[in-house]
Amino acid sequence: MLYRTLAEAFEKLERTSSYLEKNSIIAELLKRTPEEEIEHVVLLLLGRPWPAYVSKETGVGLQQLKKAIAKASGYSTSDVDKLMREVGDLGEVAARLIGKKRQVTLFTEKLTVGKVFERIRQLPEITGEGSVDRKTDHISELLTSASPVEAKFVVRTVLGDLRIGVAEGRLRDAIATAFDLDPQEVEHAYMLTTDYSMVAKAAAMGGRRGLGKLSVCVGHPVNPMLAQRAEDIDEILERMGGKAAFEIKLDGIRIQVHKEGDRIQLFTRRMEDYSSMFPDLIEPLRKAVKPKRAIVDGELVAIDKRAGRPMPFQEVLRRRRKYGIKETAEQIPVQIQLFDVLLVEDRPMLAEPYVRRRKMLEKIVDVVEGKVGVVEQRVLDKKEDIQKFLDKAVRIGHEGLLAKDLKSSYRAGRREFLWLKLKPAVETLDLVVVGAHYGKGKRAGVFGSYVLAARDEETGRYQTVTRCGSGFTDDDLKDLTKMFKKIQIKRPHEDVDMEIEADAYFEPRVVFEIAYEEIQVSPEEKHTSGMGLRFPRYLRVREDRRPEEITTVREIEELFELQERRKGKRS
Ligand code: AMP
Repeated sequence: MLYRTLAEAFEKLERTSSYLEKNSIIAELLKRTPEEEIEHVVLLLLGRPWPAYVSKETGVGLQQLKKAIAKASGYSTSDVDKLMREVGDLGEVAARLIGKKRQVTLFTEKLTVGKVFERIRQLPEITGEGSVDRKTDHISELLTSASPVEAKFVVRTVLGDLRIGVAEGRLRDAIATAFDLDPQEVEHAYMLTTDYSMVAKAAAMGGRRGLGKLSVCVGHPVNPMLAQRAEDIDEILERMGGKAAFEIKLDGIRIQVHKEGDRIQLFTRRMEDYSSMFPDLIEPLRKAVKPKRAIVDGELVAIDKRAGRPMPFQEVLRRRRKYGIKETAEQIPVQIQLFDVLLVEDRPMLAEPYVRRRKMLEKIVDVVEGKVGVVEQRVLDKKEDIQKFLDKAVRIGHEGLLAKDLKSSYRAGRREFLWLKLKPAVETLDLVVVGAHYGKGKRAGVFGSYVLAARDEETGRYQTVTRCGSGFTDDDLKDLTKMFKKIQIKRPHEDVDMEIEADAYFEPRVVFEIAYEEIQVSPEEKHTSGMGLRFPRYLRVREDRRPEEITTVREIEELFELQERRKGKRS
């Protein structure tokens, strides 16, 4: 196929902004394209001779291109510069100068799509000594055989700035129009392969059946499945039929691992290839993922080794760099926690239900301590158990949980209600412990619940807010009792306003982080702050918080107002 046909279509596409017109120009072009060239045409339409997920660049700068244009047209680089200042688009400059070519070429072969595609694709391979000049020659040779309109688009393609307004969504519709398919089917095929050139070829050769045959393959990142947000546990249980798998929700970078023999590739959610940024994960992944060929899905996180807690997301992001990779790898060691599997040898797993995929994942992954793991998961149907797991996740420092429908397939590229994010219901409060009550039954002999207070900003006094007896493990209760006995006093501390009676009183020194479901005004039990909490739950001791820094009564009042506003919106 002649490149002229493509360049003329580009020209038409550039001139129109009408969606329908663009659609019919592309559809016509695709119909006219021979099957064996359709992949080239589609990639060139998208502006690069590689699919978006291949992180290659031509590596040709403006100056080199200017030289190539000068060489091919017989003008000087200062002529090129001058015209560039006038028109501001190097493609246009090339078209005009090639049109007025000073150098008469005796024989010019006609440019084909294949030749332009191959030539541009070779550019990153031209490296080493003299590569700048060799690249310039490589391009000028193409331009020598080009007509003005061809020159314009060759130059723009090399620059990576085609400006014809063809985004991927538009290609989906045009492929559907050209081969008489439903855009949804085309989109689905794209979600599996992330490559419209493959999709168009399959559609051209086999129509709907051709598309149906497309499947995930190593090297082509699959569009990741995404999650919706759940309001609360009830919503999850209701949507998922009373039972679901719950996994820790890690806060890092979503990574899809592709393995083929010894080759490991890491793709992000946006299909970027991050393999070279994490050399410290490659060998562990080779070991951990047992099959020769596999695609697994997970989250890349940094864990503070000493504290055993996740490091903030910002730390992980510092690993996203082109230089100094080794040094940063030592400063911020990362690990990958896997939670799904999309391909095992030649078996695509996407259509299999979650439970089967999870089983398969556990089977094919050998955990490499500190480097490659499988996300902690529990299948739960009881609200309290889910709450406990959520509290645990938050206590360790994670964002929350992800609930997954046990029967759901892997819905590539979709954000549906089959994966639901569960975060702690509301903000947590940091409250100081001022008293306690002994437990009963199993908890006899230890403090079973604690009286907690917030700080009045103006007077600096501590005013009680709630009693809290849940969220503690048996070990917590034992350890806390031991600790509090050391600061026990006979009556409420002089800085504390407290009307309820307790079994023990303490110096206001230890701060608890408390989760709750709702703030109440004038609760049944009389609290001196005038506020109360529904379903308070202990999360952890905040060793990093001094009593002077805890939540104030004013802040609780503000949270209450916010909560009421939100409620108003919901009803
Ligand atoms: P969000 O980005 O808030 O929509 O949440 C979805 C993201 O959470 C996913 O894209 C993953 O990057 C991340 N994530 C963390 N842990 C998990 C998990 N166990 N399962 C699925 N996604 C997870």
